Amino acid sequence: MDLKNFFHKVKEELTHKETKSFNIDEKSQIKHAPKVESQSHWIKCPSCESMMFFKEVEHLNHICPKCNFHMRIGANKRIQLLADEGTFIEHDQELHPNDPLNFVDSKSYQKRLEEAYNATGKTSAIVAGTCTINGAPVELVIFDFSFLGGSLGSVEGEKIVRACNRAMQSNHGVIIVSASGGARMQESTFSLMQMAKTSAALRKLDKAGLPFISVLTDPTFGGVSASFAFLGDILIAEPGALIGFAGARVIKQTIGKDLPEGFQKAEFLLEHGSIDMVVDRSHMKKTIGDLLTIFAKNVA
Ligand SMILES: [Zn+2]
Repeated sequence: MDLKNFFHKVKEELTHKETKSFNIDEKSQIKHAPKVESQSHWIKCPSCESMMFFKEVEHLNHICPKCNFHMRIGANKRIQLLADEGTFIEHDQELHPNDPLNFVDSKSYQKRLEEAYNATGKTSAIVAGTCTINGAPVELVIFDFSFLGGSLGSVEGEKIVRACNRAMQSNHGVIIVSASGGARMQESTFSLMQMAKTSAALRKLDKAGLPFISVLTDPTFGGVSASFAFLGDILIAEPGALIGFAGARVIKQTIGKDLPEGFQKAEFLLEHGSIDMVVDRSHMKKTIGDLLTIFAKNVA
């Protein structure tokens, strides 16, 4: 196979029509939040089942005030929480997925992509850009689970590689915030190749002595956790996030044994040495900012 063409399967096309007709943030937030009663704007915490006002939870960055459950949030909200105000410049938003295999399962991949554009206003499961975090310049790559389960396809892989290249040109670090079910099956081998491609780009970043901080949020699974998400110099997870390769049910069926309490939760992974920190969403920006300051001192 001609590898050169293989890596150029990503189709670059301007998609202004699709991306401008939606209020992206509002749409993706509603999708990630638990069930909202449209009349009353009350929501129920999926963990402790407390009822609370949606606006209140939104104000608390979608963290339950009663039990600290971290609800899923979209990429735009995540940018708001991490990037210094007004500094985020998005790159590569013109990349959008191709369908090299003309893949059809219960419905066609094209149809699934169309539905994802319509639901989220996004053309891929990643938003990537340059910004500062507490004054430190960085490439910020954020997965949005609401776009096809945050799956890793050719465009997502390409965006990560380009973020690494920009970081090396500008001599600063990369932050990837993952929320993904794994590789995108509709792109088959093309999506699996992204595991190697992103890992190679991060290796170059590492050789250049630049930091990569990987933030694992609920859920981080499959080809994402089996490649770049676990290659960070520092691995940070949000409280309660489910992180693993295969799901617990599959593992239980395979090994025929009950799994320990809290298996695949961030706290369990921390206790067993798989990750470095579990950090509350409200402290995430400060933690990343502090780490970048420490890395910058070491580079200098
Ligand atoms: Zn709760």
